[in-house]
Amino acid sequence: MVKIGKRFEGKVAIVTASTQGIGFGIAERLGLEGASVVISSRKQVNVDEAVEKLKAKGIEVYGIVCHVSNAQQRKNLIEKTVQKYGKIDVIVSNAAANPSADTILETKETVLDKLWEINVKSSILILQEASPHLQAGSSVVLISSIAGYQPQASMAMYGVTKTALLGLTKALAAEMAPKTRVNCVAPGFVPTHFASFITSNADIRSDIEGKTLLRRLGTVEDMAAATAFLASDDASFITGETVVVAGGIPSRL
Ligand code: NAP
Repeated sequence: MVKIGKRFEGKVAIVTASTQGIGFGIAERLGLEGASVVISSRKQVNVDEAVEKLKAKGIEVYGIVCHVSNAQQRKNLIEKTVQKYGKIDVIVSNAAANPSADTILETKETVLDKLWEINVKSSILILQEASPHLQAGSSVVLISSIAGYQPQASMAMYGVTKTALLGLTKALAAEMAPKTRVNCVAPGFVPTHFASFITSNADIRSDIEGKTLLRRLGTVEDMAAATAFLASDDASFITGETVVVAGGIPSRL
């Protein structure tokens, strides 16, 4: 068991799409390290459930419904956070959709729009809304994917939107420096609801494990640890970077 520190004492962290999976794991880790965490997702019932789970671990948590492509709900997320906690130190932009397994040339325009809107544009719009409230020394972490380096056939366009986040990380890091650092985590395969294809098919799972140098799937805790590092002052001289957390699956040099 990894020993958890208290790097976020007195800090306020917003994590989008955080009522289960990787986002929930990140919210839990930041909260256990002392942050007041604001969690959100599309469904009130999921928000309420996640708030209860985090409270049961002694975490200071506030839950707000926010579908990331809804302008009013994004505004509300930021406004309510500032009303309750007075500031924002950390934003983790974690929402994504992967609505189709079509090839890029067969992907419908409505699906292309949705992929761009949820996977890329919403991160930008949330940061536009939040930036007046970001403190000196604040930190943004975008959640990309290993698919951003190697877009695979069944999720090629999703992968391309995740490639865009690598560029967005660089561009925002330049724009938001020196007040705010902007980094990115590119997860490998983690058996969440989003990636249920991994657990529903034993052949796919063992194929992925075989391609992974560390011979296992990732966990939400692996992703949370890397995100917490980048968001923390331990990474205070790191900005514009992407950390691949994929057990050694090929990504880049
Ligand atoms: P997950 O377990 O399915 O969780 C998704 C969460 O997002 C839920 O809390 C869901 O709650 C919320 N959500 C979905 N759509 C939303 C929207 N439009 N607005 C706000 N909240 C929304 O997914 P995950 O695997 O943790 O994925 C999280 C991130 O990791 C994504 O960016 C994904 O691309 C990335 N990633 C995952 C993997 C993997 O193998 N799992 C690999 C690489 C990258 P509601 O249903 O209540 O909205």
